[in-house]
Amino acid sequence: MAYQQRRFGGSSNSRPGGSRGGSFGGGRRSGGSRGPAKKYIHPSKFINKATSKADEVVYESKNKFADFPFGNQLHSNIAKKGYEVPSAIQDQAIPHIIDGKDVIGLANTGTGKTAAFLLPIIERQTGVNLRPSVLIIAPTRELAQQIDEEFRAFAQGLDLYSALIVGGVSVDRQIRDLKRRPHFIIGTPGRLKDLMNRRLIRLDSMNTLVLDEADRMLDMGFLPDIRAIVNEMPSDRQTLFFSATITPEIQMLVNTFLKDPVTVSVRTSETNEHIEQTVIEARDKNHKVELLTEMLRGADYEKVLVFGETKFGVQRLSDHLDNSGIPSVAIHGNKNQSQRQRALKQFKDERVRVMVATDVAARGLDIPNVSHVINFDTPQNYEDYIHRIGRTGRAGASGKAHTFIDIQR
Ligand code: AMP
Repeated sequence: MAYQQRRFGGSSNSRPGGSRGGSFGGGRRSGGSRGPAKKYIHPSKFINKATSKADEVVYESKNKFADFPFGNQLHSNIAKKGYEVPSAIQDQAIPHIIDGKDVIGLANTGTGKTAAFLLPIIERQTGVNLRPSVLIIAPTRELAQQIDEEFRAFAQGLDLYSALIVGGVSVDRQIRDLKRRPHFIIGTPGRLKDLMNRRLIRLDSMNTLVLDEADRMLDMGFLPDIRAIVNEMPSDRQTLFFSATITPEIQMLVNTFLKDPVTVSVRTSETNEHIEQTVIEARDKNHKVELLTEMLRGADYEKVLVFGETKFGVQRLSDHLDNSGIPSVAIHGNKNQSQRQRALKQFKDERVRVMVATDVAARGLDIPNVSHVINFDTPQNYEDYIHRIGRTGRAGASGKAHTFIDIQR
């Protein structure tokens, strides 16, 4: 048995592979809710020969962190975090945020957008005893948690506190945290709205709103929750809006939520150019499993993120890999928050080389140094593809993305 990595219009190569039996249940689809109909994507879009690093234009930051009018403690916290120069989004957005402007940041995960909004807000809130004053809404629990962790690192010694309000975990502790009157509330739309309706979160004195990964939140159907939440906020506030894309729907949101915004875009093709993208042809699901298992035995597959379509399929694939002697972790919506956190930590800490995930579970996660992204199931649409492969090849590192497709006859 061999698998082929095809490059359209180029040569194709093959490597020996072993056929290991084992059934994987054929092509039956099960588990997980099905989203909108899947769009056909021509396989040529999954192919790209990586440009070398020398071809890339390195962004030259106009500002140094020292140029930003932050207090000493905040500067020292930035240094402690190991940040030396501002990333493009930080360089361009921070001055506008400091000026009090509403900002639309067009940026994907991995660009440093979290610090771009956190740092100037933290500076503004330091010494101001308005609680709560800042609301940050993110699409997933994991992303909200990452923002909270970053907040805690930057806010050290500044007497600013946060509450993390996400679904999937006990609400009691969150209610306790809210009673301590945090300055920042960071959360996901569903739980935030729930606690708002129970009058446990009051938004009427807040002065800052951040919507992170707004496009993802719309994709996930959070628009009604977000509207309900934002309606409770004073209209006299600063709003920062981050999204990887601007669709007409997003534009409409921007028009209703932001006032006279400045747009900062750091979206370039940067996330893809240095990612080598190839397709792998397979006959059916069992064949894909065989090929994947074989590939993952390769020593260069150091830190691999495998994407599957359904919660059930992802779990089964992870179990199968475990049974084939390739330890893996899985994250998907059928796992509770602490199981997901544990899995993510094992993968991040490189205690396990392979993580299998659904798009939703992996959304927005910052996982450094992924060597390969493997699309075991093709993504629903091209946007998802771009999001998936953006997990590898970060910060100029070269990365590889393989996408399984049906054998082309
Ligand atoms: P984000 O896009 O906010 O998820 O950030 C992606 C990663 O880049 C995170 O691990 C950040 O801690 C890191 N990061 C953000 N800004 C900088 C910076 N100026 N220098 C070095 N690392 C950074």
